[in-house]
Amino acid sequence: MADYDVIVIGAGPGGYVSAIRSAQRGAKTAVVEKKYLGGVCLNIGCIPTKTLINTAGLYRKLKKADEFGIHVDNAQLDLNQLKQRKNKVISLNTGGIERLFKSYHIDWIKGEATIHQPNEVTVDGKRITSKNLIIATGGRPVELPILPFDKKRIIDSSQALELTEIPKRIGIIGAGAIGCEFSCIWNSFGAEIHLIEMLPHILPKEDEELAKRLESIFKKEGIHVYTGSKLKAAKINDDDIVLSIEVSKNTEITVDLVLVCVGMKCNSDCIQEPLRSALKINKKGGIAVNEKMETGVPGVYAIGDVIDRTWLAHGASNEGIVASTNATGGNKRMDYRILPACTFTFPELASVGLTEAKAKEQGYSVKTGKFLFSANGRAHAIGEPEGMLKIIGDARTDEILGVHILGPEAGEMIATASVAMKLESTVEELAETIFTHPTLSEVLMEASEDYYGMSIHSPAKK
Ligand SMILES: Cc1cc2nc3c(=O)[nH]c(=O)nc-3n(C[C@H](O)[C@H](O)[C@H](O)COP(=O)(O)OP(=O)(O)OC[C@H]3O[C@@H](n4cnc5c(N)ncnc54)[C@H](O)[C@@H]3O)c2cc1C
Repeated sequence: MADYDVIVIGAGPGGYVSAIRSAQRGAKTAVVEKKYLGGVCLNIGCIPTKTLINTAGLYRKLKKADEFGIHVDNAQLDLNQLKQRKNKVISLNTGGIERLFKSYHIDWIKGEATIHQPNEVTVDGKRITSKNLIIATGGRPVELPILPFDKKRIIDSSQALELTEIPKRIGIIGAGAIGCEFSCIWNSFGAEIHLIEMLPHILPKEDEELAKRLESIFKKEGIHVYTGSKLKAAKINDDDIVLSIEVSKNTEITVDLVLVCVGMKCNSDCIQEPLRSALKINKKGGIAVNEKMETGVPGVYAIGDVIDRTWLAHGASNEGIVASTNATGGNKRMDYRILPACTFTFPELASVGLTEAKAKEQGYSVKTGKFLFSANGRAHAIGEPEGMLKIIGDARTDEILGVHILGPEAGEMIATASVAMKLESTVEELAETIFTHPTLSEVLMEASEDYYGMSIHSPAKK
């Protein structure tokens, strides 16, 4: 008889959620975790970065407090205090998971797992058996061969969270979510930021129109953005680092610190023969699964960053729910169509569904509705009138294909769009929904009305 019904390897947002759901469904469950509960997300990812973003936002506001009728003298940043607060927020969250595990009688086996067989795990030499395995071992940052991490002046996002002082000039290689968020944090704290991206626009996965608008806002805020720019060479001197990039002409940028955030690879090295050959694993280490999170080997599931798909915490958690439901006798599939994403910049950029380019690529007859935050009363009241919302529909049926929001609280607002898409609502149904006034969400209603040329607060179309 197996020791457990379900063993989950890794206690990140994928692993801990699937362990709890497995236990809720009556399975005897254990989690093997070598480092920390909550994984990257709670300890060195989503939660600590958002704690820093929050302070950066507050600091920005304090700097223009006069505008809001408050006179603040000499607001000063205390990085040590900020680090203490960040660590407190982390431990509040990780402590919560430990209590949940106890309440659901989930065993936390502390140690590093290796997996050779579908139904067993070895932890520090001890063999533990299970009817089902859910692999949720996450990922780690990729290093640039021409600029290897030294963890002091060439750093990844984990070291970026621990800086005790903000250098004067910072180079950031890669303008994905992590690069853009740190650009905003450190720019708010007074550093000179050079953000370098190889692809044509920042946040390459996002809708081009909104990403380019964010790029203009970055530039207005003093962030130096170099898109379509490949890092060609790096010279590490005693006092500085010189980055050579190729834009239209060769350019040299001198900085004191470089954050490299050019991508991630999957932590699948713990899977060994004979199981390894039975799984399909790509060059990045990503384990192939179907929409039920099944690997093809009976009883072995994989979720989260280790499957190289969403690279998002809530993606991992949802995949965890699907895997644990299927591992405990249920039948569930992932619906990636309605998976939202948010980059927590100033302002935030959030989206769900297809970009305009992707919708066209997929052969839809695309129609859009747009609305600017500058025409929204609440956005002015809070002093954040920049940004735009774009809704993309199928012109033949008016089905919502995607919603893209660049603006304050976009990360909160996108949930409404996800619900509408989950309920397969049309743009018209969204336009006919009554939104509270004055709220930022009214922008979603107005963009839906604009889709029909009927937005009340947009000028008449010629
Ligand atoms: C700086 C940063 C900011 C981010 N911000 C956001 C955000 O705002 N929103 C968002 O959705 N996503 C964000 N992410 C991404 C998010 O953190 C990840 O997508 C998410 O953590 C993936 O969850 P996971 O459970 O797959 O893996 P992880 O969180 O990586 O957890 C894997 C766990 O497995 C453990 N483990 C690995 N191998 C073994 C082994 N052999 N034995 C035992 N234990 C093992 C690890 O110690 C780890 O705890 C961010 C990431 C970073 C780096």
